[in-house]
Amino acid sequence: MLNEDTKAEIQAAYRAVLAGKDLRARYGQRLMIAEIARYLGEITENDGQRTSAHKACVLEAGTGTGKTLAYLLAAIPVARQLGKQLVVSTATVALQDQIVNKDLPDLKAHSGLDVSWSLAKGRGRYLCLSKVEQRLHGHGNQDSDTIPLFMLQEEPGEPAETRAFHEKLFSSYAAREWDGDRDHWPDHIPDDIWQGVTTDHRQCTNRRCSYFDSCPFFSARAELEHADVIVANHDLVLADLALGGGAILPKPEDTIYVMDEAHHLPDKALNHFAASLGLEGTRQWLRSLSQALAQLLPHLPADAEAARTVQKLTDLAREIDPMLADVHEWLEENTPWEGGEDGGNSQYRFPGARLPDELSTRVTALQQQQVQLTRRLDQLADFLDEGMDERREGDIDRETAEAWYPVVGQFHARAEDQLRLWQAWSEAVPEAEEGEDSTRTPAPARWLNRRGGENGDITLYSSPVLADNVLFSRLWSRCFGAILTSATLTALGRFDRLSMRAGLPADSRCLVIPSNFRYQENATVEVPASSMEPGDPASYAERLVDRLPGVLEGDTAALVLFTARRDMQRVRDMLPETWRDCVITQDDHTRAEVLDRHRQRVDNGQTSILFGVASFAEGIDLPGTYLEHVVITRLPFSVPDDPIEASLAEWIEERGGNPFMEISVPDASIRLVQAAGRLLRSESDTGRVTILDRRIISRRYGSMLLDALPPFRRVIAA
Ligand code: SF4
Repeated sequence: MLNEDTKAEIQAAYRAVLAGKDLRARYGQRLMIAEIARYLGEITENDGQRTSAHKACVLEAGTGTGKTLAYLLAAIPVARQLGKQLVVSTATVALQDQIVNKDLPDLKAHSGLDVSWSLAKGRGRYLCLSKVEQRLHGHGNQDSDTIPLFMLQEEPGEPAETRAFHEKLFSSYAAREWDGDRDHWPDHIPDDIWQGVTTDHRQCTNRRCSYFDSCPFFSARAELEHADVIVANHDLVLADLALGGGAILPKPEDTIYVMDEAHHLPDKALNHFAASLGLEGTRQWLRSLSQALAQLLPHLPADAEAARTVQKLTDLAREIDPMLADVHEWLEENTPWEGGEDGGNSQYRFPGARLPDELSTRVTALQQQQVQLTRRLDQLADFLDEGMDERREGDIDRETAEAWYPVVGQFHARAEDQLRLWQAWSEAVPEAEEGEDSTRTPAPARWLNRRGGENGDITLYSSPVLADNVLFSRLWSRCFGAILTSATLTALGRFDRLSMRAGLPADSRCLVIPSNFRYQENATVEVPASSMEPGDPASYAERLVDRLPGVLEGDTAALVLFTARRDMQRVRDMLPETWRDCVITQDDHTRAEVLDRHRQRVDNGQTSILFGVASFAEGIDLPGTYLEHVVITRLPFSVPDDPIEASLAEWIEERGGNPFMEISVPDASIRLVQAAGRLLRSESDTGRVTILDRRIISRRYGSMLLDALPPFRRVIAA
């Protein structure tokens, strides 16, 4: 229950921001503040633990609503009243930067709220002092057999500049000229150089590390504990949940999440809980493991338990290797590969995730061996951990333990990844319950990829088909509160798609916040007489080249969207020169450069036509005269060869549904709304959206797609 003081604080803060920034109250923004405050106020709790049923607050709010201000204003005072932390999570770095560098400072300056915030990043964004010290130390001690070569991860002849650069990183941090955050280093640090000086949770020795008190990652993490608002991204939130929640961010039970750009969350979650394993790569890894163990063994007392563990690990690696070779051979001989002509990659998806018995037996055996291997690596990491404990007299001396813990941690992390795949492949496929034709949730997708034709390396994959269970069990059913927002959460005007893919709790409150844009007056959606059925793919580009000059005639700033890069390039190349000179494709430069050049041309009074594919249909912001015409060349249906989507379609069919109407059309609707959303970026913007794909009026589903667009005035040629 919200107390009166908190309500008054929200209202006063909103009034202060409007006055301070000379803004007028917007209906949608006020509604959003009220909805969030009401939702949070309805949560009941006892001693900090949520007691009311779990529900989420889902708000679709378009451009111009001012949604960041709305959720910050509503949620910060409530979170403080309840003693919870607010985690604001985004899908993109651009929005994260905007919240940290603009929205939160603005809010603090004008609202009267004394708010603190911190940007959360994963361990891999920070310098690991222990690792960089090991590298520098190791270099001068190539003779020292305590420093494992695996730790150094470098060729003996590593360039002197790399070592000098590592020294510079280390000394800049020591001199407090840099905080150890990769993003705060004045120049870009290439991945290969950075990998050698950062770490992950399995390699980090945590409190046992001699540098713990000055560790950049743990210093940054300590700051999070005192911040009112933690700004994160979906990947970090999901990584934290995969570690059980509370490992990097506060525990879900103590957190109110705001998931901005929430439409990306289900797909991000699928990626996080997917697994893969390359058979040849794993065999090479086993060889590296055996070599590392052989190097470690002489440093362990012969009769120590750790030495016996090393011996068992060596035996296991020797046993697993031929089992992998056998699976490779079996798959090569028995898989009805699809594609792979002319030495290209081939793929095979197991329908219904069902594996043939002969393969299943092999997978189960490998899963059992992998459990042993992972357990032994865990045990070895524990022995090394004990070796670093000054209070205990362990079998392993501290120097050996410190040097080898990260190495074993690296092997352990990889072994866990492999185990996830074998487990996902050996789990029984859920069967339909009696009286039902299909299961309640789809079985995970299982598929194979073979690189470079016959006898190429084979990679095994597994992925949940829907993220509903993982998100429900790890996030929605645990967190104190969750607000999801984005400009596109509905598909065909309904929240069903999001609900199915994100596993939202029943009775979650879902609402579309009305826009303050005057769509009818300011913009049109047009289907001209020159629109066409995509038909024959071979002539598609030619037909488009015929039509585009007419469609773009008179424009100074337009965006033309394609569904395939190949089409985009071909059309550009075939356009008459006068038009070609006006075009910038999204592949010509970096995204920022493309947009800069476009703006410059418009500022100089030149015509500028942007050509882009899916990623330009979402997230580019060109207000006012920078964009007055969006051309959609083809309805954005996805290509049906994605194994996860194919598994979902199969499951929907088993349930008697129609995958085209239940997946393809809603997905296309979302992409179309996003593309059309590039046009109006502020209340005063005007322009038109032209759809050149005639299916929008010739097919039954076309009217559903049209109706889901903002209510632009329609100009449809018969
Ligand atoms: S505590 Fe972990 S991340 Fe920090 S310096 Fe030590 S090993 Fe590296």
